[in-house]
Amino acid sequence: MFLSKLFLPITKNLPSDAKIKSHQLMLRAGMIKQSSAGIYSWLPLGLKVMKKIEQVVREEQNKIGAQELLMPTIQSADLWKESGRYNDYGEEMLRIKDRQGREMLYGPTNEELITDIFRSSIKSYKALPQMLYHIQWKFRDEIRPRFGVMRCREFFMKDAYSFDLNDTNAEISYNKMFFSYLKTFKRLGLQAIPMSADTGPIGGDLSHEFIILAETGESKIYADKNIFNINIENYDFEKESLKKMRTDYSSLYAVTDEKFEKKNFDKEVPKKNQVMTKGIEVGHIFYFGDKYSDPLNCFVDNQDGKKNSIKMGSYGIGVSRLVGAIIEAKYENEIMKWPKSVSPYDVVIIPSLSKNNIENLTKSIKIYQYLKKQNIDVLLDDVDESMSQKFKKHDLIGVPYQIIVGSNSTDTKFEFKEVNSASSILSLDEIKLKLKN
Ligand code: ATP
Ligand code: MG
Repeated sequence: MFLSKLFLPITKNLPSDAKIKSHQLMLRAGMIKQSSAGIYSWLPLGLKVMKKIEQVVREEQNKIGAQELLMPTIQSADLWKESGRYNDYGEEMLRIKDRQGREMLYGPTNEELITDIFRSSIKSYKALPQMLYHIQWKFRDEIRPRFGVMRCREFFMKDAYSFDLNDTNAEISYNKMFFSYLKTFKRLGLQAIPMSADTGPIGGDLSHEFIILAETGESKIYADKNIFNINIENYDFEKESLKKMRTDYSSLYAVTDEKFEKKNFDKEVPKKNQVMTKGIEVGHIFYFGDKYSDPLNCFVDNQDGKKNSIKMGSYGIGVSRLVGAIIEAKYENEIMKWPKSVSPYDVVIIPSLSKNNIENLTKSIKIYQYLKKQNIDVLLDDVDESMSQKFKKHDLIGVPYQIIVGSNSTDTKFEFKEVNSASSILSLDEIKLKLKN
């Protein structure tokens, strides 16, 4: 992409409600535009980052055998009446009537709908276990939408659902997801800590919130500092290893304020290990057994030919919230720093165009074409601005690698720089290797 062609409405004017860095930077860099309270349009740069996050989430879900489907955003109220949640869910649910007067709603979550899909298609225990997921827009009429994409009314979520024959098997599914979440967040450059959590309107009794540390987070957290040292690389996908991982995590204190009790904290965690700070919830997993399968009559025939209600869990990741959460975790001063896995571009070429330097532009286009051929996603800054203006803009866009085509470059070697480190002079092949690693 040539920067001159990119739809990138960079702005200096921030609304007064843009209080946290991620919200400010996303507006300044033209990643999003608010369309009404808690509802945003995703502009090209913002959408590109969100799509990359979505893809990492998808790949990690697929790796544990979860299968992707796509459920609609609009649901019929009937199913929610069957489960008993239509009234319970309260004002966060956006309720709509269609032209026939039928009650519909914009899905805030999908337990009912997925249970309905499952009950109408799966009849035998032989089809279990199953994990299904989709990545879809949700709507929750939050009382105080704020912090940009962090607490929206319309937001993009990955929600997965597991189906098992009994509690023992269901726990294996839960552990797989638990493991998969830690790996997903790691690939996104984040250290997420699983914290024992309340189950809220979803219900059930086994639940973890995945929280990343950030001063601007809305969750207060209390933890034993040793939990930050657990290394996920020490475990693998095998059943016993997953069990050990869960045991290792649950042996260390880590809760949000809903579950916090000072007495227990002091008893379980020596003072020198106590961490009290704030964080952002980026994922939440629940095990709720037959809370939905029972009222919705979701059964399979078991080995003895008897009806067996299905044990279910649900597993959410806030894909759109993650865009803001990654910024909160990574930015420095006014500089956006995308992890390589989600950066909108792999590399940006920045030619010095002072005195209308056609030579630098021609060289840059050659580099651009070469990298494109190597499947490297490259941005070329062909805008006629001073180098200092250019660098300011690229601090905001946050691409982690730069190729600077100016006085330090020759016909075959170019200045290559990883943001915040010293540059080196490299050939195109060497640059390619750096980018491919
Ligand atoms: P919160 O406590 O932040 O309201 P929740 O417990 O209601 O979250 P879940 O129902 O578990 O959220 O949803 C799964 C994930 O979706 C959350 O971990 C979060 O990352 C994301 N999410 C939830 N509500 C919002 C929202 N209003 N805006 C953006 N993302 C959200
Ligand atoms: Mg909520």
